[in-house]
Amino acid sequence: MKVFVINCGSSSLKYQLINMVDESVLASGLIERIGMDGSILTHKPEGKDKFIVEQKMENHEVAIKLVLDALVDEKHGVVKSMDEIDAVGHRVLHGGEYFDKSVLITDETMKTIEELIDLGPLHMPANIMGIKSCQNIMPNVPQVATFDTAFHQTIPEHAYIYSIPYEYYEKYKIRKYGFHGTSHKYITERAAFMLGKNVEEVNIVSCHLGNGASLAAIKNGKCIETSMGITPLEGLTMGTRSGDIDPAVIQVLMGKEDINIDQALEILNKKSGVLGISGVSSDFRDIEKAAEEGNHRAQLALDHFTYVVRKYIGAYIGAIGGVDAVVFTAGVGENAPGMRASICKGLEFFGIEVDEEENNMRGKEKDVSKARARVRTFVIPTNEEIVIARDTLELTK
Ligand code: AMP
Repeated sequence: MKVFVINCGSSSLKYQLINMVDESVLASGLIERIGMDGSILTHKPEGKDKFIVEQKMENHEVAIKLVLDALVDEKHGVVKSMDEIDAVGHRVLHGGEYFDKSVLITDETMKTIEELIDLGPLHMPANIMGIKSCQNIMPNVPQVATFDTAFHQTIPEHAYIYSIPYEYYEKYKIRKYGFHGTSHKYITERAAFMLGKNVEEVNIVSCHLGNGASLAAIKNGKCIETSMGITPLEGLTMGTRSGDIDPAVIQVLMGKEDINIDQALEILNKKSGVLGISGVSSDFRDIEKAAEEGNHRAQLALDHFTYVVRKYIGAYIGAIGGVDAVVFTAGVGENAPGMRASICKGLEFFGIEVDEEENNMRGKEKDVSKARARVRTFVIPTNEEIVIARDTLELTK
């Protein structure tokens, strides 16, 4: 059984073809600049050379067709024909309150997914386009949607409710939903394995720190709190997103800069975060380098980021009532030992103690705590694709 996993962004598409017999990745790749000049496919077949195609891709359907051509290509391909693809799993941003797990795509579930566009206007149209394109190209292959919000549907009412008039929740379902759920789910399962516990016994703070960043508080294996909100803008300071701010900032900005609400939200989504503070980059590698060279704003961005994450970890340990482990994942969490050490500095009170030597590594699943630490600190490389592929297999076999 081979599952094709697709993650469609507005102008990008990431994919993996996974052999579910041994969960090995047969090929992976990325298409950038769909619908723009300079569209490019980077295809990485396992055990073969990387293959790059630069040609105009007007839309996602054209892009997906190109990926399928690459997968069956005599030289760069990994399967003989498209018939070998048994199912497609799609990453979908928002499942609202409708989906607390992955679903098989039917006319009915598709209708519900389309009703959720309002909750994810930046991502949902691309996700839907990806599903429809696959339906057109592979009409007989079953498709599954895995939602970024689904894992967070166990968050209790008192935690997901916003303190605005209740009628807005009733009328428009305005509430906290949370994202990166597929990643936090994977982390919870791996952390259980590392702790030698059943998932239902696991208490952790899962820190997904990438370009987008979110924390999840996991109590007895279930998510009880997360930092992103109705959209991924809430919570931690991120690469380009502001995270938590006083909403009145928007009014002040609009008045002073003479901009409309869309422009203000564009600033908060695309020009803020560590990019906004540092003025250097949204990439932590560039910021760390600039800080080392004495750039004050770069150092400020790092100090602010580590402070915010540390503050959230403390709050989430309180929300859970004590934890077995704090887990770091995603680009920064997996690859930046200095950031992990800075975040944990000051959390010794909770029993969190990072071992400098153990922590000096990148991209490996590892316990990086001191032997005596009461609470473990883990690094776990995330794998959202395998969660999507497993759910797809489960729902289509
Ligand atoms: P992600 O969104 O999970 O792909 O994470 C991407 C981000 O991870 C990049 O923008 C970088 O800021 C960060 N990152 C990746 N590698 C490193 C590294 N070696 N040191 C610091 N940050 C890194």
